[in-house]
Amino acid sequence: MSRKLDGRRYEEIGTAVADLIEDYGISYPVDLFALAETLGVRVITHRGGLPRGRAAARTEDGYTNVNNSANGPQFQIHLDQRKPTARRRFTLAHELGHIWLGHFTESAPASEEEREGEAHHFASNLLAPTPLICAWVPQLTVDGIARTFRLSEEAASLAHRRALRALNLQHPQGEYYGRIAASAVRAESEPDGGSSETRRSA
Ligand SMILES: [Zn+2]
Repeated sequence: MSRKLDGRRYEEIGTAVADLIEDYGISYPVDLFALAETLGVRVITHRGGLPRGRAAARTEDGYTNVNNSANGPQFQIHLDQRKPTARRRFTLAHELGHIWLGHFTESAPASEEEREGEAHHFASNLLAPTPLICAWVPQLTVDGIARTFRLSEEAASLAHRRALRALNLQHPQGEYYGRIAASAVRAESEPDGGSSETRRSA
């Protein structure tokens, strides 16, 4: 499901993620429901699956509705509650990406494929930013990334490939790397010891 964006756009999306992490002091693994609430975005989960509708850019996992009110646009994200938790996290991050990247404004990219690619890249980077993967999962295992950032194996594999590319310097490291590394907070590991990576030294 990876789509090619040009290098400048990768950089801009990385910067948008860094802005979000800095502005809201995000700690990891990201609590996306809390983040949505902070952003004033309503999240509605549907236990019986998504209602039929005509929302643009809807997938089988979720979609976003916008209502323009006197106080500006009000966003509602709808999620299919029946999907696995890790997958729902990715979908919520993806929908927040559409909002944070201004896809409901006139400056949004015209092509839906491009918007989807951007939201996808945003979600992956918000959930598991490359500089944090490198710092917190020094062994760079897919499993370690999945546990540390609470990702599905599919999303962790994507993040893993991105981190490898960055380490191989096929991808220039933008200044947002340093901003993310400096501002993201790592939450205490859970009592069930879910994150053995934290106790292993690099
Ligand atoms: Zn989308």
